[in-house]
Amino acid sequence: MKNYILSIDQGTTSSRAVIFDKDAHVRAIAQQEFKQIYPKAGWVEHSAQDILGSVMAVVAEAVVRAEITAEDIAAIGITNQRETTLVWDARTGKTVCNAIVWQCRRTADYCEKLKKDYGDFIYEKTGLIPDAYFSATKLKWILDNVEGARDRAERGELLFGTVDTFLMWHLTKGAVFATDCTNAARTMLYNIHTLKWDEELLKLFNIPASMLPTVQPSGSFFGYTDKSVLGSPVKICSAVGDQQAALFGHLCVKEGDLKNTYGTGCFLLMNTGEKPVKSSNGLVTTLGASLSERPPYVLEGSVFVGGAVVQWLRDGLKIIEKADDSETLAESVGDNGGVYVVPAFTGLGAPHWDGGARGTITGITRGTSKAHVVRASLESIAYQVADLVDAMKRDAGVEISRLAVDGGASKNNFLLQFQSDILNCETVRPQTVETTALGAAFLAGLASGLWNDTDEIRETVRTGRVFRPDMSEERRRALLGGWAKALRQTQTR
Ligand code: ADP
Repeated sequence: MKNYILSIDQGTTSSRAVIFDKDAHVRAIAQQEFKQIYPKAGWVEHSAQDILGSVMAVVAEAVVRAEITAEDIAAIGITNQRETTLVWDARTGKTVCNAIVWQCRRTADYCEKLKKDYGDFIYEKTGLIPDAYFSATKLKWILDNVEGARDRAERGELLFGTVDTFLMWHLTKGAVFATDCTNAARTMLYNIHTLKWDEELLKLFNIPASMLPTVQPSGSFFGYTDKSVLGSPVKICSAVGDQQAALFGHLCVKEGDLKNTYGTGCFLLMNTGEKPVKSSNGLVTTLGASLSERPPYVLEGSVFVGGAVVQWLRDGLKIIEKADDSETLAESVGDNGGVYVVPAFTGLGAPHWDGGARGTITGITRGTSKAHVVRASLESIAYQVADLVDAMKRDAGVEISRLAVDGGASKNNFLLQFQSDILNCETVRPQTVETTALGAAFLAGLASGLWNDTDEIRETVRTGRVFRPDMSEERRRALLGGWAKALRQTQTR
């Protein structure tokens, strides 16, 4: 009986394989970290061999741990770090250089110029604000800087892909050269309205069309793995960028549904249904995951420093030993004592966009203790998310009654209660926090027929805890006013 889904979650610092059963229970997990390569200040790379090797290793380990074989697996789902760019030889699969990671800033200067000259042109087609983050300028950099790459690409000898494409190509021994619309939408080469690679953008970045993979729905049949991977061929039935996978993992499939991932940074995504919503607040418009040829549109905003503020308390200020201690310390004081932390360590992102801003702590008095600073730091995560939610509400013109959450810092109960209070809406944390892997598994399970529809899946979803707002309007206003004032003191413009 094929009753299991193997989900491959290829992330920025580690690769994981998770095996889910038909009740969406985790049967086994395997994880392997790999090396981050920093060749110069601001540059970040991964070895393609490390990515592939770690994926093969965790897949084998998870299958052994789950005590199953390829015969038991209904389908494989793949979710991945987005935007990271690989170029490889179409015959051998060998990459021409390391993968350029989404965090890499090597094309930042070029993107500044691009933004001035083509900002609106690019936004209209892709929903993205030109930035070094997205794949297009990384791919152009490889063609312009790796010896012989452009000639080989023009002769049709090289292929481009994000991590999902690279993995599928290798898992199928070169038989499948494809991606899904959520990954394509983050390359800055894909037109999210026509749902095609955009010829004018390919011309602008001087990219040969022959390098580009076929784009499929996130949940669809991509191909069979080579039998060397698991002993016998298994269907690959989903590919999806990590944030969109989490959105689907929460079953945010209706217009207005939204989720926030509290990791190092925070990623807030809202399903806006059939409407691509144009943002007046610096959010990007992108595509969501589905099984259909017409995927839903999504509004996305990110906070640069989310859970990372807790790392700073631990490793920078050294006022806590473990991240978990932040919860008890914050709760040891009744309020923030008037203290606000604005963790603008690398500037402020959406909706404030102020690259020159740097962090501040305001409202310190003789009575301020480390507990107040810790509490104010956790509160800062919630305020930043609230600012994004507010921007989304204004852009999409919808009310929000429920926020689904996941990510490392979402296990902090103080943070989630405060988030509910400040947003005046329910915050819902699922029992399975493997939401990203789960999203890829749901898509693969639906596309392979393990589940019939999302209603059937919904029956398997177990809510961990619901946080309900419990704060007076007056207090909420006063706190938001305090945050707004601290923000003004931080901003440079
Ligand atoms: P990423 O996927 O970005 O690596 P994770 O989802 O693994 O991130 O979350 C890691 C982040 O969560 C770290 O920044 C860490 O400081 C934060 N974190 C972990 N545990 C807690 C906690 N109990 N309270 C607050 N933050 C936490």
